[in-house]
Amino acid sequence: MTDKSKQTKLVQAEIGVDKTFGAVSPPLYLSSTYRFEQFDQQGQYDYGRGGNPNRDALGAAIADLEGGAGGIVTSSGMAAIDLVTNLFKADDLIIAPHDCYGGTHRLLTHRAEQGRLRVIFVDQNDPKALDAAIAQQPKLIMIETPSNPLMRLVDIAAICKAAKKVGAQVSVDNTFLSPARQLPLDLGADFVIHSTTKYLNGHSDVIGGCLVAKTAEHAEQLAWWANCTGVTGAPFDSYLTLRGMRTLFARMDIAERNTQAIAKFLHKHKAVEAVYYPGLRSDPGHKLMKRQQSGPGAMLSFTLKGGRDAARVFLENIEVFQMAESLGGVESLICHPATMTHRGMADEAREIAGIGDNLVRLSVGIEAEDDLIAALKNILVQI
Ligand SMILES: *Cc1c(COP(=O)(O)O)cnc(C)c1O
Repeated sequence: MTDKSKQTKLVQAEIGVDKTFGAVSPPLYLSSTYRFEQFDQQGQYDYGRGGNPNRDALGAAIADLEGGAGGIVTSSGMAAIDLVTNLFKADDLIIAPHDCYGGTHRLLTHRAEQGRLRVIFVDQNDPKALDAAIAQQPKLIMIETPSNPLMRLVDIAAICKAAKKVGAQVSVDNTFLSPARQLPLDLGADFVIHSTTKYLNGHSDVIGGCLVAKTAEHAEQLAWWANCTGVTGAPFDSYLTLRGMRTLFARMDIAERNTQAIAKFLHKHKAVEAVYYPGLRSDPGHKLMKRQQSGPGAMLSFTLKGGRDAARVFLENIEVFQMAESLGGVESLICHPATMTHRGMADEAREIAGIGDNLVRLSVGIEAEDDLIAALKNILVQI
């Protein structure tokens, strides 16, 4: 399916299907339980933890976008990440990126400490380290690209190829780009993970997740585990997320256009040290971005020349941008990774990872480009 026909299918998902009243928008089914049709004969649904029409519609819509056989909607992105680990045994090895999302790092570390899985964190852009890890016969390789907050890319197709040689499966956290910009299953991955909290819902008012499986067999196993462990998403959250997702392609186009303009503006500004955005031709990830993504997306980070004090003035006084964690909403957000999203890291580890006190991350929204640039311009003359 092309992006255009995916867009049409997404906008129209569940539209006009209501048989009771002919409602154009899909109804919301909050009921936790469903009547049996007869003695010993259940209908399509029986109990809301295992199945719900709104949740199923959302899972199917995300699976369609990613090109998977099924999508399991969970109560958060973290629940989706934990869900995939249920397919593996305690002595199975998982390889994860050393700079993965902090919550992912925490989950895998503590599950390993409990003896429930084995994990090695590696720099997946270091071929020697990656080869050495793959030589240990992992069962699952987790990928997250672009990375947070420095927007480093890793080559999904190359890692999938190496994984297949040792019989490992591959999951890709596609939260930072969404299926409107990157399709990991087409590049050889077996699973795609989303924090739907971000671009898919797109309005910063739901916490949710989804795990998409390439094969029907995996989708079935994962749906079984989601019901077994009770991590399935709520009906109202699913309803809101599908509602927000209809505009995914339109939102991504505008936010990305804004981000490209901001990247160019910051790149030339004398108060800015460096800009991290694969959409810039000078970015080390630019070539891979062209091959792997259908666009650079709307996340960007940069360093200021002035250090921590400059960052403080910048974040406290900038207009239009809200100082907040998270990303992917219609509104623009600004974040200081060292004191916000990455404050849990030890100072030294943060420095090694390149997350200095002068680093600022933007999640660019869909406001008017001129207003976003003006806000940045006004604050940069003050530092
Ligand atoms: C936010 C995020 C998660 C976790 O999702 P929640 O919905 O907050 O549980 C996982 N991975 C990435 C890349 C994220 O940005």
